[in-house]
Amino acid sequence: MGEKERSPLKKSGVPGIYWQEESKKWYVRVHYQSKPYHMGSFPKLSDAKKFRAEALSRIKNDTFTDWYKSLSISYEDLTGQRFGRLYVVKRHEEKSKDIKWICKCDCGGEHIAYSGSLKSGKTKSCGCLIRLHLKTMPHPERVHGTSLSMIKIKKPTKRSKSGIRGVYWSSVKSKWFAEIFFQGKRYFLGLYTNKEDAAKARSMAEAQTHDRFLSWYEKNHPAPEKKRGD
Ligand SMILES: [Zn+2]
Repeated sequence: MGEKERSPLKKSGVPGIYWQEESKKWYVRVHYQSKPYHMGSFPKLSDAKKFRAEALSRIKNDTFTDWYKSLSISYEDLTGQRFGRLYVVKRHEEKSKDIKWICKCDCGGEHIAYSGSLKSGKTKSCGCLIRLHLKTMPHPERVHGTSLSMIKIKKPTKRSKSGIRGVYWSSVKSKWFAEIFFQGKRYFLGLYTNKEDAAKARSMAEAQTHDRFLSWYEKNHPAPEKKRGD
């Protein structure tokens, strides 16, 4: 992969205006009371310059705060920002209470994420990070020799033993197992020697239950093999 342009300032010739290759827009930012304010993105550099000049004069006149609030960009513009492996390309068209962003993942995938989940660090990839992590996690019995029907015998009364939702002790296997319900179906997430690993599997699955879970599950938890007669 080629190095990203390190000094986009040079390109616009104006501090606070950055060229965003992915969205093909000029991205405007100002600082006010030592906080950065994202002023939106513009297809034309002249518009970006004009808008930034307006923002700066508002700062000088001390009318910035009210003006900024009155703009339709009163949400934080995440365009051009990076969150883990995700690069925010643009705001999702859908008008919802929670603002969504179209992101490009380093793996080449696309992902739509909420502002909150990006900023909190809950979402750091299109799901590929989780896939990678699961592959490297020590869980020798994750799939092999495990029967999905076996876990169905477990009564929810075992819940109290782990203290973690979706993590249960299997007295048959003498291991912890993790599961999750999604769209009315139960998904087996593996058997673990350590409760912490089972809890980790469960929390990662929870993070995925929205859009990426199903494809992720198919890749990482293929249908169990036929039960061996042992
Ligand atoms: Zn990815």
